[in-house]
Formats: sequence, structure tokens, C-alpha cells
Amino acid sequence: MMQSTMQDWPLTITALFRHGARVYADSSVATFEDDGVRRASFAQVAERVERLAAALQRLGIEPGDRVATFCWNTQEHLEAYLAVPSMGAVLHALNLRLFPEQLAFVINHAGDKVIIVDDSLAPLLAKVKDQLKTVEHLIIVGDGEAAELGDGCLRYEELLAAEQPGFVWPEIDERSAAAMCYTTGTTGDPKGVVYSHRSEYLHALTECSSSALGISERDRILPIAPMFHANAWGLPYSGWLAGADFLMPGRFLQAEPLCRMIKAERPTFAGAVPTIWGEILRYADANEVDLRSLRMVMCGGASVPRALVEKLEERHGVRITQAWGMTETSPMASIACPPKSCQPHEEIDWRLKSGRIVPGVELRIVDDGKVLDWDGQTVGEIQVRGPWITARYHGADYPDRFDEGWLRTGDVGTVDARGYIQITDRTKDVIKSGGEWISSVELENEIMAHPHVIEAAVIGVPDERWDERPLACVVLNENSATTPDELCAFLESRVARWWVPERWTFIPEIPKTSVGKFDKKVLRARREAGALEIVHVQ
Ligand code: ADP
Repeated sequence: MMQSTMQDWPLTITALFRHGARVYADSSVATFEDDGVRRASFAQVAERVERLAAALQRLGIEPGDRVATFCWNTQEHLEAYLAVPSMGAVLHALNLRLFPEQLAFVINHAGDKVIIVDDSLAPLLAKVKDQLKTVEHLIIVGDGEAAELGDGCLRYEELLAAEQPGFVWPEIDERSAAAMCYTTGTTGDPKGVVYSHRSEYLHALTECSSSALGISERDRILPIAPMFHANAWGLPYSGWLAGADFLMPGRFLQAEPLCRMIKAERPTFAGAVPTIWGEILRYADANEVDLRSLRMVMCGGASVPRALVEKLEERHGVRITQAWGMTETSPMASIACPPKSCQPHEEIDWRLKSGRIVPGVELRIVDDGKVLDWDGQTVGEIQVRGPWITARYHGADYPDRFDEGWLRTGDVGTVDARGYIQITDRTKDVIKSGGEWISSVELENEIMAHPHVIEAAVIGVPDERWDERPLACVVLNENSATTPDELCAFLESRVARWWVPERWTFIPEIPKTSVGKFDKKVLRARREAGALEIVHVQ
């Protein structure tokens, strides 16, 4: 084969970091704190990134070593995202909401040597401190006491102050590890995914392209999804590469402060799971807000209910675009940007698709070992491959998750001729009634379209006649007296008759996972334990 004449220049986070630092020195990072907003320019952040790398090197961190973070979304967290991979080490953002056993498991499994921890989170980390086998240093961000972590902790600001800017970055192989993230364990034990420099770089470029998020210097990004969830949705790297301003919400993740931030700081782009937007909608309906600065709201991690999107748009001018991806896909695999032929009144239907596959990711849909057509009808498992799709898990074998170089996503759905995906379920959540599939996702969305329903999750339960039937778990508005019969009548015109559940339970809240998704594992366990009061409708 003929050789190209191009330079073999590695795609690294170091290169991405240098670009943002040099070209967008004036772009800014704002962090929300108890007593106001702290701001820094990219130039100032870049200098601190260099000092952080020097400090970590002085502590003995070498290429390949894991440096963990246990932090909210803040400027310092962004600094770690940039410094750790750029010096050849591996960033591991820890999920603040894991149960202590799971947290200790992932820290030990990853072999983290250092943990950078926010002072406000010291009590949480302290719960697992005695179980940690590989951690040599704890570095506290902020000047809070952090006494729970004992003596011997280091202080982030003191470490930075003791160093000089101008760190000499090493040469890095683009295929080496840059960062790692564990799945949240929605459907099993947390599994580790290790991103490479090359995968992060290409993923960031794609997020910046107008075929995906179109992130640019004109954007002000509000990353609401925690930076430990699915590689921070790639935003630290795409935003830095493009010179977008960052608005870091810190620990103020409730609807009220978020709405205040949006009004005051006018972000153009935000990303969060549907439950957060549900809370924002309820707050916005009852209070004076201004959310109109947002040009694009990326919403994913779970199916986005139509009612939520319509109400946010009609009442508050917020345009949600659904995305589908996973920790294993870095996570940008698809985003539901409408096609060029789309008429204005159809727009919302397109933005409600699970997503359109982005350039760089290949997809196939498989049922019973057979690769299906892209006809928008036939349901099968979605499988993907590409330069930012994981090829294996860290330190564990899960051969059943891969097939001939494709990642088996465990999501089932359809794909149409233009690459628009519609997820109907997770393999573990599907309901098979009398040999036919009922989409729990679609049923939930239709129940949530009822004006008195706040949240709804549907799980399969054993049934003598049909093998399995749906159980609807519903959260009603505070003063609503809506009955199961009324909800059934509402559903009759919206879904196939045989989908309408006979079993209903009303609960005060749907249990959520550590990243705010409906936790069906918990609902199933509650039902099995007889802890749900179930009403039967004929
Ligand atoms: P976990 O696997 O622990 O839940 P992830 O956040 O990586 O952690 O989850 C990825 C999964 O989230 C996908 O496999 C899919 O089931 C679900 N998901 C993500 N986006 C969507 C979406 N737009 N619609 C439906 N499900 C989604």
C-alpha cells in the first residue's frame, strides 16, 4: 500500500490542552460557591494545570498511574481533567453517590494512587478510607476542615503554590490510557472503561462538529451532569478545545439555584439527565425564571419523556435534544438533531428520537444473530463500534458484551434508514407478555403524558396467563386523586390495548440511581419483598 506523506502527529489531551490555553486564553471558567461566583480565565486555569502536574510529579505520580477525583463540577475538577492525562497519568473521576462498598471496590480495582477530594465530600470518602489498598495521598480542595480524613492530607492550593508554571509535558503515545470511568452499575457491578488520548481527542472534535453539538467559542457550557458520569459527557475536552466558557455548578444541583444560575450567567448549552429537567420544569412553572439563553439542551442517559420536552419548550422556550450513549461510548454515540428536510412542526418529533448516529460511530442492529435492516421498524439489539467505543472492560472479562469487534450495548430498539435510533428498552428491562414485547420506555412516557403524573416507571412482573405483565409505578401530583381506571382510560387511545397495565402502584417517589435515572432494580426488589401496594384493574 502507498504510504501517505502526512506527519504521524499524536492526538493527545496534551495537544488539546495546549490549543485551548493558547488560542482561547480569555475564555473563562466560573464556579458557583456558597458566597458567590469564582472566576478564572483559561490562561489562569492553564497555569494552575501546569502547577498541578508539577505537584503530582513531585508526589511520585508517573505515567500510567491513576489519579482519582472525588469532586463536584468545579474549576479544580476541570484542572485535574486537563493536568492528569497531559502528564501521562490516568484520570479516574469517582462517583460521589456510590454505596461505600462499591466506592471502595472501584478505587481498589482501578488502583488509584492519589485522590483529589473536595473538602465538603471528606465525610463521604472517610467512610471507605480504611478499605483503600493503593491510595498514597489524599489532596483536599478548599480550606474546609476535612478532619474526618485524618492527619497527613495534603492541600491542593498549598501544593500548587509551591510549584512553578511551565511544566514540560512528556511525549505520549496516543493509544495510551488517559482517563477511566466506571459504569454506575444500573444493571450490575460497576465496570471500568479506559479512554485513550486518541479516543478523547476524536470524541472532542466530533462534539464540536455541527453534526453533533456544534460546541464553539460562542458557547457558555453548563455541565449539570456530574463530571464522574460517563466521562463528563466529553464536555471538559470539547469545551476546552473550542474555547467555550464553563459555568460550573459545584454542589448546587437543585432546580432553584440552577435556574438562578441560568438567568444570571446565560449559558447557551447544558446537559443533564431527564429527571433534572423534570425538576427544573416544576420549579419554572411555579417561579419566575429565564431559561431562554440555552440554544441546545442535551438530555440523555435515560429516555426523555415527550411531555417534558413539550412543556419546557412551550412554557419556557427550552429546546431539548435527546442523546443516547453510554460510559462505554465515551459517551457521544448519537444525538437527535433533526434532518434537513424537517418541517418546523415536525422538529420536536425528531429531537425526541433517541439520537442519530454521529460520524465516527458505526452501528448495527441484531436479533437472534441476524443483522437487521435499517427500516425504523424491526427491533433488535443495538451494537456499535468506532474509535471511541470500548473494546473491552478494565481488568475483567465480559465476553458476552462483545461480538466480532462490536460492543453489545444491551439496549434494544430500531434504527431507520437515516441512522435515527429509537431505544425501546434495556435488555434487562424488557417485558414479554404472551410472547410479544411491550416497551417499558414507551409505556412510561405515555403515562407521564398524563397531566397529573410527575414520574412513572414500568417493570415486568410474573403473570400466570401471559408469563409477564407490566406493573406501573406512578408518582402523582401532590393533590391529585387520579385513579388507575382513569389512567387506563387515558392510555387506551395512546398505546395498544394489550399494553395497558392491570397492575398499578402509587408511590411518593421513583427510586433513582447514583446519576438520577429510574432505578428499576430497586423497584423490582421492593415488589418481590411485598413492599408495594398494588391495585388491580380489570
Ligand atoms: P449505567 O449503564 O450504569 O446506567 P450509563 O450512564 O453509561 O451507566 O448508561 C448508559 C445506558 O443509559 C444506555 O445503555 C441506555 O440504556 C441508557 N440511555 C442513555 N441514553 C438514553 C436515551 N436517550 N434513551 C434511553 N436510554 C438511554
